[in-house]
Amino acid sequence: MAKTIQAIRGMNDCLPAQSGIWQFVEQHIRDLTKSYHYQEIRTPIVESTDLFKRSIGEVTDIVEKEMYTFDDRNGDSLTLRPEGTACAVRAGNQHGLLYNQQQRLWYMGPMFRHERPQKGRYRQFHQFGVEAYGFDGPDIDIEVILMGARLWKAFGIADKVTLQINSLGSNEARAAYKEKLVSFLKSVEDKLDDDSKRRLSSNPLRVLDSKNPDTQSAIKDAPRLLDHLDEASKQHFDILCERLQNLGIAFEVNPSLVRGLDYYNRTVFEWVTDMLGAQGTVCAGGRYDGLVEQLGGKATPAVGFAMGLERLVLLIESISDDAKFEPRADVYITALGDASQCKAMELAETLRSACPGVSIQLHCGAGNMKKQMKKADASGAKVAVIIGESELQNNAFGVKYLREDKPQSSLDKNALIALLNAF
Ligand code: ATP
Ligand code: MG
Repeated sequence: MAKTIQAIRGMNDCLPAQSGIWQFVEQHIRDLTKSYHYQEIRTPIVESTDLFKRSIGEVTDIVEKEMYTFDDRNGDSLTLRPEGTACAVRAGNQHGLLYNQQQRLWYMGPMFRHERPQKGRYRQFHQFGVEAYGFDGPDIDIEVILMGARLWKAFGIADKVTLQINSLGSNEARAAYKEKLVSFLKSVEDKLDDDSKRRLSSNPLRVLDSKNPDTQSAIKDAPRLLDHLDEASKQHFDILCERLQNLGIAFEVNPSLVRGLDYYNRTVFEWVTDMLGAQGTVCAGGRYDGLVEQLGGKATPAVGFAMGLERLVLLIESISDDAKFEPRADVYITALGDASQCKAMELAETLRSACPGVSIQLHCGAGNMKKQMKKADASGAKVAVIIGESELQNNAFGVKYLREDKPQSSLDKNALIALLNAF
């Protein structure tokens, strides 16, 4: 027998049993973006490698070790997108969407990172993200935070996630702070993990974000970026905190939250859960006021977030009854004999036109009534419609309830349509 071919490690199939919950999540996201009047943007999955090097930063986990990069047949270096923000900015610059304008955009789709696959961490994963351009005040930061909060409520997981926020200040304030940080880090250098030692010179802020517990305890007295903010960033952050409080959005200020990508400034935030082990960040974002210019556009303030949909699905599954998302037909149409089968096909088409949104499965292939009823039951349908000799003659349809203890009835076409529309 020929060897079967497997999917790439860390890249998952979404099988019919899982597609229900994914559709549920995606629908809520579409409703959310509509209710905040954000516009969808779709960009290619492959971009020039330079786009990610220049935006995410050379000395980051993503660019250093996680990108799927290859030369195409022309010898150009291309990369499967590891995230969506750089792509949105590239498209915004290219098509003139950003300069002197305000845009509220969203996207959803697959991203690619060569990481060690584990629960909540995959090599192909999916993100929903929003990006707002042209707004420099904290009100837009609050708006995107509120969008997250609303989504958690809609999914019933508001008590499973907490909001952490921090401010990275301006580039100038951060540069001055970096010097202080580096001299502190040098004083504890021998207690740092190897990655952090390396980053001490290349990207010292990232040391604050280390997941190594020994490193974390060595740097617990490090100077705090929050104490070194420039005046304008401090004001921005104070207003953000005050308004979140007024809106009843609970948050923690986490001074060591720095995010893994270079382009952030001022507000950064993460929604985290303790239900997914080390993969605790469900949604992460912040301001990136310098990125548009850095990628060749005119300076444009910007803020956004990206939400990991696999982690979100895992959280929703942890509180939901699986059966809720199982794909089920509403109606299963059975028929005995050639004439009835012909009539059944006609009826199924009529019902599909007259009952939008109702899921109608027609029995295909022959078989006795027992076999057809077994299929009807397996489809999950609420009712089976039966077309036999007598139904054909009387122009009526038998209706058998499959999940309720109700007597079988015989309905004409209009009564059947009314019944299905009431589902
Ligand atoms: P982590 O610290 O977990 O590696 P990150 O900082 O690399 O996350 P971001 O680049 O901010 O993540 O991406 C935003 C969100 O996308 C994350 O919070 C997470 O929910 C999700 N995400 C990131 N990488 C993966 C992955 N490999 N598999 C599944 N989801 C991911
Ligand atoms: Mg990561």
